[in-house]
Amino acid sequence: MTGPRRRGVAYRGAPAGVEHLPMRPLWLCRRCGQPWPCGAAKLALLAEYREVPVSLFLYLAGCLHDAIDDLHRLNPSVTGSAADMFDRFLGWPARHTHAYGVGSTTAVRIEEALS
Ligand SMILES: [Zn+2]
Repeated sequence: MTGPRRRGVAYRGAPAGVEHLPMRPLWLCRRCGQPWPCGAAKLALLAEYREVPVSLFLYLAGCLHDAIDDLHRLNPSVTGSAADMFDRFLGWPARHTHAYGVGSTTAVRIEEALS
């Protein structure tokens, strides 16, 4: 067999330390049912990719691409705007990673991520 190998229920490429994973094609958290990435997933992703924030953006960009396809296929009328989807997947880490100049306010903003 030459096709890509499926890895159980975990989303492909998901970091090992993140337990709040997306349930496709709805893109809700498998654990808490919130829109993914939920607050717990964001915290875990920030911790997992602390040393390599660029990899976090690459991972999330792949998720965004798949989510747009999945959600649009499910119901084009409720997908929402592209800007909202972008912010849901890629906007928040830009506000939380040191790679983008976030300094001492990170702790405060992590609380914001959980709200
Ligand atoms: Zn969750």
